[in-house]
Amino acid sequence: MRAIISDIHGNLEALEAVLEDIRQQGITQITCLGDIIGYGPNPRECIDLVMKNCQLTILGNHDQAALFDPEGFNAGAERAIFWTRSTLEAGDPEGNESRWEFLGELPRMKRDGEFLFVHGSARNPLNEYVFPEDVYNQRKMERIFGLVDNYCFQGHTHIPGVFTEDYSFLSPDEVNFGIALGDSKMLFNVGSVGQPRDGNKRSSYVILDEEAKTVTFRRVEYDNEKTAAKIYPIPELDNFLGDRLREGR
Ligand code: ZN
Repeated sequence: MRAIISDIHGNLEALEAVLEDIRQQGITQITCLGDIIGYGPNPRECIDLVMKNCQLTILGNHDQAALFDPEGFNAGAERAIFWTRSTLEAGDPEGNESRWEFLGELPRMKRDGEFLFVHGSARNPLNEYVFPEDVYNQRKMERIFGLVDNYCFQGHTHIPGVFTEDYSFLSPDEVNFGIALGDSKMLFNVGSVGQPRDGNKRSSYVILDEEAKTVTFRRVEYDNEKTAAKIYPIPELDNFLGDRLREGR
C-alpha cells in the first residue's frame, strides 16, 4: 500500500495530521505530487517532513517558482512565493542548502509500472490543470488519456476525484470514497493536503492498494484555525489564504 499526497503548500498542521493518519494505517510508502510550499506559513518544516517521509516526490509549479521565478502567477501567489523564498534563505544555512538541493533535484514525472505520477497532467506535468469541467473538452481529455498507459495520479487543482476513460469525472462522494482499478484508463486527482478547494476544509489524500487494486480517498481533520492564525500576521501572505482554509475553497 502506498499513500499519495499533494499540494501541501506550507501547511504544517495539515501535513502532520495527514502523516499521522497514514502512520495509523501502517503505511510507510508515501509519494508526494509536489507543491510542498507556496501560500502557507511553514515552508521549511514542510520540506523537512517530506524529505524525511516520502520516498518519491514530484516537482510542483510552486516549488519550481521558488527555485526560479514565478510565471503565470497572480499577484497574491507571487507575493507568497517571494516570501517563501526569503524564508528559505534566512538563517539555518546548512538546512536551507539541503532544502534547495532537494527541491532542485525533484523530477517532473515518474513512471512506476502501470502508474504515472505528475503534479499537473501527463501532457504538461508541471503546469496543466485538469478540472472536473474539462470532461466537456473532449480534445483535451483525448490528448491527456493518450499519454497515459494505465493510471495517472495528479494534483494541482486541489479538487479530488477520478476521471474515467469515457470522459466523466467522479467525486470521492460519488464513488463512496473508494474505486477499483479496472481495465480502462483512469486519472486520479488526490486533492490537496494543505489547501482543499472542493468545499471540504479537511485535508485530502489517497491510498493506493496495488494488491487489492483499489484507490481510497481519505479526508483528515486538522487545526486549520491554527494555520490561519499564523498566516494573518504575515503581510506578504494575503488574509484570503487564511480565510480559504476555514472554508475549503
Ligand atoms: Zn497547488
